[in-house]
Amino acid sequence: MAVRALVWGENVHEQENELVASLYPDGMHEAIARLLREDQGIEARTTVLQNPEHGLTEAVLAETDVLVWWGHAAHGEVADEIVERVAERVWEGMGLILLHSAHFSKIFKRLMGTPCALKWREAGERERLWVVNPGHPIAAGLGEYFELENEEMYGEPFSVPEPLETVFVSWFQGGEVFRSGLTYRRGAGNVFYFRPGHETYPTYHDANVGRVLRNAVNWAYNPNAPYRHLLDAPNMPVDKALEPIEERGGKLHKPGEAGFR
Ligand code: ZN
Repeated sequence: MAVRALVWGENVHEQENELVASLYPDGMHEAIARLLREDQGIEARTTVLQNPEHGLTEAVLAETDVLVWWGHAAHGEVADEIVERVAERVWEGMGLILLHSAHFSKIFKRLMGTPCALKWREAGERERLWVVNPGHPIAAGLGEYFELENEEMYGEPFSVPEPLETVFVSWFQGGEVFRSGLTYRRGAGNVFYFRPGHETYPTYHDANVGRVLRNAVNWAYNPNAPYRHLLDAPNMPVDKALEPIEERGGKLHKPGEAGFR
């Protein structure tokens, strides 16, 4: 069975900026989905911010194995309720891939719990992405490094939690460096942040970027049924303990009480 990927696009720059529209006439989300579809094992759909519930209804998310997120100008327009819904799906085991300026998306900040800030400069610099974790599935098929001739600079310090793994480190022509491929586990969900993807450059027409995105979707995919119990906090009855025990000491809660949340 194919991995069901959903590419979520903010779809604002494509509508308002001629340069972005000329690079991505069908929208950045479609260009990203096209790269994913080069893998027969990935079934890539797209949706955009402007759809009802931003295209992220309970039903759509229930049928999504890996969500890929590109946002920049309209992070604030994403409803908090939808952010919480996506976070719960990640905790249950859905994969999530955050691209470029999604470092400031509500969902990334919610899952990281830190500012997720960085330095930036829009000067079309060459970016050299070094594979610092050879053998990692997300870097499969790449050489020691690959280059993007024109990219926006993102520089350290990147105020995110220490990642589970660092897959790429970028060097920029102007001299800065950046941890550009980071993995996290949140609940049962695999999360990957991938830096490139500035909207005024043809990054989502690049073969190496496509390879990374396909690798990342396959890496993030979790074939297991949703781990819904990770969202519960059950009060376990004394008489159902795995080993027989006798109640001792004082008590705040009555048997069966849900407790404070
Ligand atoms: Zn950018």
